[in-house]
Amino acid sequence: MTKDRFIHTPNFADFTYSWTRLATYKASLCCIMESSISPQLTQADMIVLRNLFQDINGDETKPNASGFDDQTSIDLLACLSDETSDKFQPTIFTGWDEKDLLGIPDAFHKNLLQPYVKWAQHVVRRPTDVVFLTHTLLYLSTSVPSAIYLYYRFTWAHGICHWLMQAWYAGAFTLMLHNHIHNNGVLSKDYAWFDRCFPYVLEPLMGHTWDSYYYHHVKHHHTESNGPDDLSSTIRYQRDELKDLLQYIGRFLILVWIDLPLYFLRKGKRALAFKSFVSELSSYAFIYIAATHNFRASLFVLMLPLLQMRIAMMVGNWGQHAFVDDIEPTSDLRSSITLIDVPVSHSPPSPPHMSNI
Ligand SMILES: [Zn+2]
Repeated sequence: MTKDRFIHTPNFADFTYSWTRLATYKASLCCIMESSISPQLTQADMIVLRNLFQDINGDETKPNASGFDDQTSIDLLACLSDETSDKFQPTIFTGWDEKDLLGIPDAFHKNLLQPYVKWAQHVVRRPTDVVFLTHTLLYLSTSVPSAIYLYYRFTWAHGICHWLMQAWYAGAFTLMLHNHIHNNGVLSKDYAWFDRCFPYVLEPLMGHTWDSYYYHHVKHHHTESNGPDDLSSTIRYQRDELKDLLQYIGRFLILVWIDLPLYFLRKGKRALAFKSFVSELSSYAFIYIAATHNFRASLFVLMLPLLQMRIAMMVGNWGQHAFVDDIEPTSDLRSSITLIDVPVSHSPPSPPHMSNI
């Protein structure tokens, strides 16, 4: 048997068949156009999808075909995040946009939501970031009292529910914290003290140790950018091997308290080595003291969230950097896992605001 037997030579019949299928597919796509856009999507997603559907329809060259030609779509997207535009919409919740809130009672909208948004826009650093305050208030009013009550009167049911709630919160909190550590806060100057303090209360509840995300992520990971000196780089591992993934996670879990200070020492950054060592060990000491006081409450409030956050962050990092290139590991383009439409997967030390991505 020769290799040639496997080479399929296209003929005219095949071509016609494929073309017919493509045309049928395209026609059916056009039919499902509007109905296939989920109303749950963000307004920005809807604009992009409508623009793409207009492309499929071939309406791009017809003026005002459906109002979503490229330029109109780009302008609309810019207006949504332009604080001076009348179409500007602040992000208030992660799950609902302004359009999703139209169904709520007028009284609630007028007496509660609107005054809150107006006030919150002065509290946050940028008017679009109301969601940061919403989530900070949500965590302070649910996670904190729930954790305190667990130490006061522990029940297994409450412990498990608290842990599940924290697992639900952890992703959004970490996104906010990512913004916080890159921009040295998320709130306006008038609230600087609160901005500086609230992470110290919330970080341990969400599975972070004090300040270590800042030292590890901003001062080390972004500086090394997945290169050979990056402790989180995946280039030393076989990235489709479970054994390697477990080694990668295990090393971080067990040795990060010493690996990170030693990295800073190797780079001649003694102050950072000291600060990162102290912040990590003081967090461990805090958990240890809390556990000696009430082990069961500490298990659900501090220990399980820490374990799950560290595993999740390393799994996330492994996935995001699965294609880090051996030859040019610091190249964002060669290492990108992103296929379409958005910038390459990794951000520079001072990333653009999320509304501009
Ligand atoms: Zn970052």
